[in-house]
Amino acid sequence: MAKLTAKEEMLQYKYDVPATDWMNTPVDFKPGTFCYGAKGKNLEAVDFPNARDWSPSDADWNLPDNWQEIILEGMAERLAKYRSFRLFMDVCVRCGACADKCHFYMGSGDPKNMPVLRAELLRSVYKRYFTTSGKLFGHLVGARDLTEDVLKEWWYYFYQCTECRRCSVYCPYGIDQAEITIMGRELLNLLGLNIEWIAGPVANCYLKGNHVGLEPQGIVSNVEFLCEDIETITGKVIKPSFNRKGAEILFVVPSGDLFAEPGIYACMGYLMLFEQLGLDYTLSTYASEGGNFGFFTSNEMAKRLNAKIYAEAKRLGVKWILGGECGHMWRVINQYMDTWHGPADFLEEPVSPITGTKFTNAKSTKMVHITEFTADLIYHNKIKLDPSRNDHLRVTFHDSCNPARAMGLMEEPRYIINKVCNHFYEMPEETIREKTLCCGSGS
Ligand code: SF4
Ligand code: SF4
Repeated sequence: MAKLTAKEEMLQYKYDVPATDWMNTPVDFKPGTFCYGAKGKNLEAVDFPNARDWSPSDADWNLPDNWQEIILEGMAERLAKYRSFRLFMDVCVRCGACADKCHFYMGSGDPKNMPVLRAELLRSVYKRYFTTSGKLFGHLVGARDLTEDVLKEWWYYFYQCTECRRCSVYCPYGIDQAEITIMGRELLNLLGLNIEWIAGPVANCYLKGNHVGLEPQGIVSNVEFLCEDIETITGKVIKPSFNRKGAEILFVVPSGDLFAEPGIYACMGYLMLFEQLGLDYTLSTYASEGGNFGFFTSNEMAKRLNAKIYAEAKRLGVKWILGGECGHMWRVINQYMDTWHGPADFLEEPVSPITGTKFTNAKSTKMVHITEFTADLIYHNKIKLDPSRNDHLRVTFHDSCNPARAMGLMEEPRYIINKVCNHFYEMPEETIREKTLCCGSGS
């Protein structure tokens, strides 16, 4: 993040009606409220245009001379390609049901963080250039010219939406703000306008196979290190395999699980569980990232980064794929992977080798979530559990946006938690399941 504003100042927000019209209120790039601009080298690594080092607080963003033409052509192309984009630009009735549902609005009081107004930032330009009423009546019908101030506003507010889709749960028309944000970011990326928090991991993933930039030998060493810790604690020796051809299952995790706390604890849990089950699985040092920061950039970038999972499954000749937990990883897998890279007919419909359960929900993707797999094991009494060992804990569960809203994965985690502890408490109804609030860790 840029230099931080004092906490007291950041907490001084109000929900009052703003003094100025939203169309005539340019962005104020206050320190601590925006991310660094993407570095040139990271855009260059993935062949993105206008790669250069820049700062959002600079007056001059070093845009190409024909930047408006590039954006409007890009918009026309996407309106023709994505029916959802055209529909969402046309269909909003400004009912306001989504207005107070975004965590960015709740935490900032900034009206442009209301989902309805965030969409309007793009819709106003759509109206101006792609509708007859907007061309004829301009401001009167909510249309406005595409200026540098508008572009800066797009950048500021489209990188504040975490594409969590909470607002869409409340929209009577099912308008998916995340899809609008994705379109906004696709257009910004035509001009090299990304943030470093996304562009850095994307470049790493493209060049090295994972967001954190681990080399294959680094992945092996990290996992071996976790196995040593397990041996120290439990006395059990675990020797997972890497890139093993002919394994039954390819296990893919987000690279954070191989790298740092708290993900490594999840990874240690996976390793112990699989050892106990005697599962025939392999990790891959090439498909070493299930997560997908490309998804925070453009559909095309997400597709490029996702490609390696099926490619590696094919190369290794596994039967199906098991995946660790990561929100954006599972949104991409559940909603997009099969369309982009499927059908994966070379894989088999996943069947648990331990319980015989056929995961018919994964018939098409051939990929099963670790929580589904584990809940099924518990249901069939394949793991011995003693919930009283956790009696000192009071436990709650914060649903992850994407598994909850994009997969409907809400019962399995609760089933597991209730089997491993005696004191599970739900948070308020407005904050769980489909209505869960984003943790902010998407991008
Ligand atoms: S998708 Fe999430 S972050 Fe984006 S506007 Fe809706 S609630 Fe806010
Ligand atoms: S809830 Fe849907 S229709 Fe209503 S203002 Fe929000 S996006 Fe528009």
